Amino acid sequence: MYINGEFRTEPTGEIGSVINPATGEVVEEVAMGGPAETNEAIEAANRAYDEEWSDWSARDRGEVLREMAAILEETPDEVARLETLENGKPLDQSHNDVNAAVEALEFYAGAADKFHGDTIPEKLGVMDMTVHEPYGVVGVILPWNWPPMHVCDFAAPALAAGNTVVIKPSSQTPLATMELARLWDGVLPDGVFNVVVGSSGVGSTISGHPDVGKLGFTGSTWTGGKILESAAENITSAMMELGGKNPSIVFPDADLEKAASRTVNRAFYNCGEACSSPERLLVHEDVHDEVVEHCVEAAARVTLGNGLDNGVDMGPLASKEQYDKITEAIEVARNEGAELVFSGETPDDPELQDGFFVGPAIFDGVTRDMKLFQEEVFGPVLAVTTFESEEEAIDLANDTKYGLTGGVWTTDSERSMRVARSIEAGLVYVNNFMHGILGTPFGGYKRSGMGRKLAFEETMREFTRVKSIRYSLGE
Ligand code: NAP
Repeated sequence: MYINGEFRTEPTGEIGSVINPATGEVVEEVAMGGPAETNEAIEAANRAYDEEWSDWSARDRGEVLREMAAILEETPDEVARLETLENGKPLDQSHNDVNAAVEALEFYAGAADKFHGDTIPEKLGVMDMTVHEPYGVVGVILPWNWPPMHVCDFAAPALAAGNTVVIKPSSQTPLATMELARLWDGVLPDGVFNVVVGSSGVGSTISGHPDVGKLGFTGSTWTGGKILESAAENITSAMMELGGKNPSIVFPDADLEKAASRTVNRAFYNCGEACSSPERLLVHEDVHDEVVEHCVEAAARVTLGNGLDNGVDMGPLASKEQYDKITEAIEVARNEGAELVFSGETPDDPELQDGFFVGPAIFDGVTRDMKLFQEEVFGPVLAVTTFESEEEAIDLANDTKYGLTGGVWTTDSERSMRVARSIEAGLVYVNNFMHGILGTPFGGYKRSGMGRKLAFEETMREFTRVKSIRYSLGE
């Protein structure tokens, strides 16, 4: 843990084991915090806000974020290595995450002194204005799929806006986050940036704490609901980045090979453990066979292995729990009558036999009543469903409780705009399918969450409160 500028490595309670999902071996044992350490971190963050950080100018906050970015950019290797060890993803993908983290720090370093309030037209003698004020302490609760990037997506705008932060990484993947704390030790005043490693008790202490002014959460919709319940007690504002069941819709006039291969690449990137990935491929009946064939070809090119080895596209799933969940989802899909048209091979390296590997899977003939169509898998499983008309495609795309991302593949520009506007999701791609884009608001409709990260104005608003001031100039 890193609390008030001090590292706590001596266990005071539970000891957690970080497992390498490629081998099943313990990477490191870690001292886990509980409610006592969490309360201490929140108190430290509150004190640091009152006694020091709230006096810093926006420009100086920007400068310190720039310094954090420079340190990480110069020394990315250990953070990336630890991410691969604790999460399993290929090392080049961990480096992509670290680069994205650096970019977020730089972006919000620049944003710090450019986000400001308004003056509102009024009669002479009166000045109405707004100021954007920080909440004080922001509590951040994170999952295990992109640790460095998630830390910076939340901490960078929160700090830029003038808040202090208490971060809880997933207890499965605390190492890369702790390495960030080590790299930045001494750069920020003590207590401005805190990390409490621990299980859900740490998270629920943060979400129910009266001194936490704002919550930033990324994780499952179910846990998001629990966090909102506990936040309700203090009416704590919360930004929620939750699950997805994202559709990629292919019309007959699209570049079919590109649509199929990009959808497959995104579906299996990060082992499918990405909230924004396409989990459903909706394809017009006229081009169904051709598109599925391209998908199978693209999936067959995916090489599984230890993320530390060269030439690996996909590592293991992040944990035994994930392995059990994904293999069960595949079993359920088979039993429901979906047709498994591709099932990737797992590595035959004897050293990886205890790893949590599941090859990419493509199911065809998936119908809307199936669990595979409705429930987020969060693994390398793509579900193919056929449609006959644009109306049916839109109806299928929206027939889910989620609304995070979506994709439309067509060369008909009018149709692309019609469909993009009709998909109930926070981000729609036309003729591409990517992840979140820095500078562009990212967040969900429906049960995929609320609030927008990665953006300038929308995100800076998330981490500030608006105060209106009426100023009378004489009589
Ligand atoms: P999760 O089980 O919801 O856990 C997320 C975090 O919440 C972890 O740190 C977890 O702690 C903590 N937590 C668990 N129960 C809690 C409680 N009652 N109160 C407070 N905190 C609690 O999610 P995950 O399995 O780590 O991540 C996968 C999910 O994240 C997927 O659904 C995915 O779609 C979603 N996700 C969304 C986005 C997005 O931007 N929309 C991005 C990435 C992932 P422990 O890990 O220590 O149990």
